[in-house]
Amino acid sequence: MREVTAEIRDLEILIDDAVHEGCVTSENRTRGFAAKLDETNPLGYLRGHYFIPKIKDLVKQFDDENKEAIYFNGNSLGCQPKATASHITSVLENWKVKGMNCHFQGYLPAALCDEEIQNLILPIVGAKAGEVALMNSLSVNLQLLLLAFYKPSGRRRKIIIEKHAFPSDYYLVASRIELAGLDPDECLMEISPKEGRHTLDHEDILHAIEETGDELALVLWPPVQYFTGQVFNIEEIISAAHNVGAYCGLDCAHGIGNIELKLHDWKADFAVWCGYKYLNGSPGTVGGAFLHSSIDAKTLIKSRGWWGHKLDSRFKMDNNWDGSGGISEFRLGNPPPIQMATLVAPLELFNRHSMSQFEAVGKLLSGYLISLLRAVVGSRITFITPHTDVDSRGCQVSFTLTSGKPEPKAVFRDLREHGVVCDFREPGSIRLAPVPMYNKFTDVFDFVNILKNILHPE
Ligand SMILES: *Cc1c(COP(=O)(O)O)cnc(C)c1O
Repeated sequence: MREVTAEIRDLEILIDDAVHEGCVTSENRTRGFAAKLDETNPLGYLRGHYFIPKIKDLVKQFDDENKEAIYFNGNSLGCQPKATASHITSVLENWKVKGMNCHFQGYLPAALCDEEIQNLILPIVGAKAGEVALMNSLSVNLQLLLLAFYKPSGRRRKIIIEKHAFPSDYYLVASRIELAGLDPDECLMEISPKEGRHTLDHEDILHAIEETGDELALVLWPPVQYFTGQVFNIEEIISAAHNVGAYCGLDCAHGIGNIELKLHDWKADFAVWCGYKYLNGSPGTVGGAFLHSSIDAKTLIKSRGWWGHKLDSRFKMDNNWDGSGGISEFRLGNPPPIQMATLVAPLELFNRHSMSQFEAVGKLLSGYLISLLRAVVGSRITFITPHTDVDSRGCQVSFTLTSGKPEPKAVFRDLREHGVVCDFREPGSIRLAPVPMYNKFTDVFDFVNILKNILHPE
């Protein structure tokens, strides 16, 4: 892992000088300046390891064969690493030539494929060896861990989540409460932003946790909110939950690969994530789960499958459960080596630098985007993401187009026609993620100019 702090600092100084309030000079607003930022960016070379979709493959009619899209959807599905296909081919080849013996021999042996690569994820989530398992989808992992960690008894039966949580999280929590024979209307507490606001006040979250006190069983919280991009002070949220005797689990879908996570040091009880967003594994590939080493897995309620059994006696098939300990005890069945292979290339690329460096560059990309948007199209947009506080955002920026001509929906369609890949949500919100792994400062510059021309056609 190579530290490039001084180089990132140079980049920061360039941007600071250029976009400092009131100093957005015409010289700094050139494409040449954005290109200089790309040259200075010590992580910029990583883009060369990815296939970036071409506009001609996304838009019906586009003359330029080679022009790459402005891909700002890495928060939803990351781009494909160039090396991924060869890892999949190697797994297929191993199966082809070894048949049954591919289980324990050759490249990414089937029976051990998850354990072979799980060390690559440790620095990305800030976990210790033995605290993570690569398995299932995020939703399945959340289900397994909610089964284990929601243990309502007496007064202690409430779960706190954020208002407008991701649908899967909401449904899983509500149905978990029903599975316990309780009523979500009474036991599920959603914390809302203040009237007229999109983002949550940190104090309101802590206050709700303290208020709920000994009625609180569990807090499920995201380090990064999927829609607003808001980054939370997770350590304090976890500590507040623990102070009232509740557990705290984290949904890291939008945190992983975006910001530095410290699951172990923060003392998260459990966490889950998916592998296809910022991590750039393939669509629907295996996600992961974390269980803090201070918690004895044997004391938790769980569905048991044969894969959670200790490896050395798993194949005795004597139906005497002997769990492997920790989160790996939650594994139910065989891991999928083809899917696992899709995680190898992107995880190796992440392991070239620390997550704090990816986070720093991601914040510079989003900061540059915010500054240009304010300077160029500020009158037509309202930021959803906390745009003035660098600690409260990662690389994602969401904003609302204020009503006017052209209509927000038409603006979004036009962006797509120009090769911009991003999300739109009715009535007029746009979500963009310039990711530190493969986006460029010139992507940001070009995007803002395309948007400017759509909003203010000459
Ligand atoms: C993407 C995402 C999911 C998706 O879950 P899957 O099981 O991978 O389909 C769940 N929760 C959040 C917060 C997400 O952002």
